[in-house]
Amino acid sequence: MAIPGLSRRAFVLLAAVPFSAAAASDRKNISGIGFLRIRNGRANRRYLVIHGDESTARDTLIEHMKSAPGVAFLIDGRTRTVRPHLLEIDPNRMFSAAGAALSLSRLNPSASPAAIQRELRWLDARRHQLLEALLPAPGGLLIALHNNSRGYSIQSEAPISNRVHLPAPSTPHDFFLATSESDFNLIARGPYNAVLQSGARGPDDGSLSRLCAGRSIRYVNLECALGNRAAQAEMLNWLDRLLP
Ligand SMILES: [Zn+2]
Repeated sequence: MAIPGLSRRAFVLLAAVPFSAAAASDRKNISGIGFLRIRNGRANRRYLVIHGDESTARDTLIEHMKSAPGVAFLIDGRTRTVRPHLLEIDPNRMFSAAGAALSLSRLNPSASPAAIQRELRWLDARRHQLLEALLPAPGGLLIALHNNSRGYSIQSEAPISNRVHLPAPSTPHDFFLATSESDFNLIARGPYNAVLQSGARGPDDGSLSRLCAGRSIRYVNLECALGNRAAQAEMLNWLDRLLP
């Protein structure tokens, strides 16, 4: 069965998800990248899975959106990097020109400086599409889900954080990263690891957390070890009930 404009992969994904009657899903191309969008009610919440190889985050969020109100964007692919135009890039390095330039150079070692510059101009002209789609209305909350499997943990973020809450040191791969101090204060009353990064510190890596910290947008990144779906679902439900 063919549906115009919908890839087979997206169709299989959509067909496999029995959303509640209120939820609607479609596929959107934003800044050259394919996303699955799930809309459920009118809450001022945004959810995001931006790395296609983080399957635990994807499965957790799809399940969550069966009941949680808000709008979710999930990258439509299974690879970590994307090719929005001509070159490869990490999608979580596209949120600033500086971050995009570094990622393009790293991932396309044979591309000429002129080709990198052309790609940067192409991305610059379309960055607003990403921001308009992914960022919540003023005062709203953006929750991004990530998985780690390469040694990354809360210990990687602690030195560049404003505050650290470490009630579960034996599970350093599962933690929240918040950009709002009031959100962090609520999270820090609970049993889960968390860091606060409320200022734009260090070099601009083009990540969404860095952009949100710089613009005072309420953003929480939920990091869990790849495969630890029980923890990611538990922490996501807890966070969603906790934060306004
Ligand atoms: Zn990620």
